[in-house]
Formats: sequence, structure tokens, C-alpha cells
Amino acid sequence: MAAHDAWALICRLFANGKPVLRATLSPREATVLPVVGKAVKPAVVDQSFVLCPYCQQHRAQVWGDGRGGWMCRCPDCGPVAVEANDGAALALDEDWLRRKLRLALGIESRDGIDDLGDGVWRLGDARRSPVLLARDLTCMLQEPALLDRVRVAGGDIRVITPRPRMTRGSPFGTGVEWLVLEERFTFYGGGIALIGLPLPSVQPVATDPATPVNGLFSADFKWATLPAIQATPIGFTDGQAKVFEALWSFNGEATTAERIMQRAGLSSAKPSDLFKIKLKDKGKPESEAQHAAYRELVITQKRAGLYSMPCDLMRPDIEGDTSMT
Ligand SMILES: [Zn+2]
Repeated sequence: MAAHDAWALICRLFANGKPVLRATLSPREATVLPVVGKAVKPAVVDQSFVLCPYCQQHRAQVWGDGRGGWMCRCPDCGPVAVEANDGAALALDEDWLRRKLRLALGIESRDGIDDLGDGVWRLGDARRSPVLLARDLTCMLQEPALLDRVRVAGGDIRVITPRPRMTRGSPFGTGVEWLVLEERFTFYGGGIALIGLPLPSVQPVATDPATPVNGLFSADFKWATLPAIQATPIGFTDGQAKVFEALWSFNGEATTAERIMQRAGLSSAKPSDLFKIKLKDKGKPESEAQHAAYRELVITQKRAGLYSMPCDLMRPDIEGDTSMT
């Protein structure tokens, strides 16, 4: 569940919009810091106040203790010694978020990101539809002129925002599709992936066999959309597709190589055999991408000889109740 927790932290930091003290992270959030990688970076905050290291309830002013160290005066705990890193803070690399959201949505890179002010950005056009990212749904609703500014004839607008505390039904009128940041996207392989069905196209397009249907995979498992590895869908051989389909059918449960290969109808001993890069294919981008996709998607418990593919990251609506009141 590390990727899920990582995404929750990224979304929270974005909604928050300013650095948070490291000491205020929940234990779950702190454990995913190595997972989020470049998305979250150290930040500078006013070091003259810290969160009381003892109760972690009050922000208190920092004083010199007269012996070269530091202390704060907490209204509940009184004087408490302050370590240098109690003031350490973290912030989301928002450029990273915007760039990876563009990748996840297939936004062409030739049109740049526009900062529209007030925590709203125009990420670009996804299938000829303008996409806005807003820090706060309420602010967005109070500025209907913003939508008019980006509206194009015959195209819907997509608005991505963090999940608000309260909302009733669909907050926007017709012509605006609302994508909840926490629910429609996830952290995947160092990037961001769109969950579930791809965005409906404004213009009818021919059906693309690579379209993700089974999570990140196409209907026949011969393609996977993994923007963190390759901008275009990764194509697989028949054997590789059979391995993924078999792993998928076990619903994330760890299974022996024998059962997987049996279900895939293949004679190789274990799933990874199909993804080894042969000497003659070394350096070929398609082989490298297939290998990287396998390493990204399949969890191997070497000692127990078990393999699994965590489907929860690839399917919408598995996180339980996502309805809002
Ligand atoms: Zn305290």
C-alpha cells in the first residue's frame, strides 16, 4: 500500500499548498517519504517557531538556551529542548506534480503550463479539451470567469482538484468534467497514472487497441500504459501478455510460479523468464521497457518463490467508500 499512502501524502501537500513540518507527518506518511522520491523535497520554513517536540500540539517560539542549544516554550509543556531538525520541513515539488499530471493525461508538451493565479493552473489540452488544476474546488467555483477564459468551442473543460471536505453532487454545470485528484490518479513507478477509463474524447477517435481496460493494461494485456517508464503504451509479446493476464487473474494474491505458468499455458519455469533481455535484444528500447514494466508491476518474494501483481493500484473503486456527502 506504499504507493497509495504516497499518493495520499502528495495530494495532502498539494491541497495544503505550503511546507509542512516533518514532525507533523503521521507515521504512515513518514514511512512513504523514501517512496515519493523527487516529488517531495526539503523546504525552508520560519525556524523561529517550531512544533513542540514533546506534545506536538503547539507551535512555540524558539529561544537560545544560553548554552549554545535551543529550546521552545510550549504553553502546555513549558520549556522543551529543541533539536536542530524539529524545524525541518517538507514541501511538494508542485512542478513535478503538474508535469506528471500532464504525462498521465497525455497532454502534448508543446503548449506550456499557464499559471492563472489563485492556485489554478492550465495544464494544457488533453484530447482538445483544456485541463485545469486547482488547489481548491471552492475557490474555483467562486471564479466562474476562469472557466470562460479557457473554454474552447465544442470542447469540455476538465478540472482537477483535491477532494473537498463537503460537496453535493456534481459541482460544475454541463461542459465541465470534474476529476478528483485523490480518486482519479495514483502514484505509480515514480510518476502519476490515471486510474480507470481513459478520458472520453471530445472528438470521436478510432478505438486504440492499447487503451487501458484492465487497470493499466489493454483488454488483451498486450499493452500497458506506464508513463513513468515510457510516454507511449508499452507493447508485450504474446507470452508476456499471458503472464500478465494470469497474474491479474489472481487478484493481487501471491502465487507460486508453477500455478501462474500453468494458468498462462506456458512451459517456462517462472514468470520472469519471459521478461529476460536476450543478448541480441540488449539496448533495444522495447525489450528494456518490457523488462522495466515487469519489474515495476510484479512483486517477487524470492525466498518463498511467490509472485503477485498488486491490482489495487490499477483499479478504481477498490479503496472502499469514495462517495461523498
Ligand atoms: Zn508541548
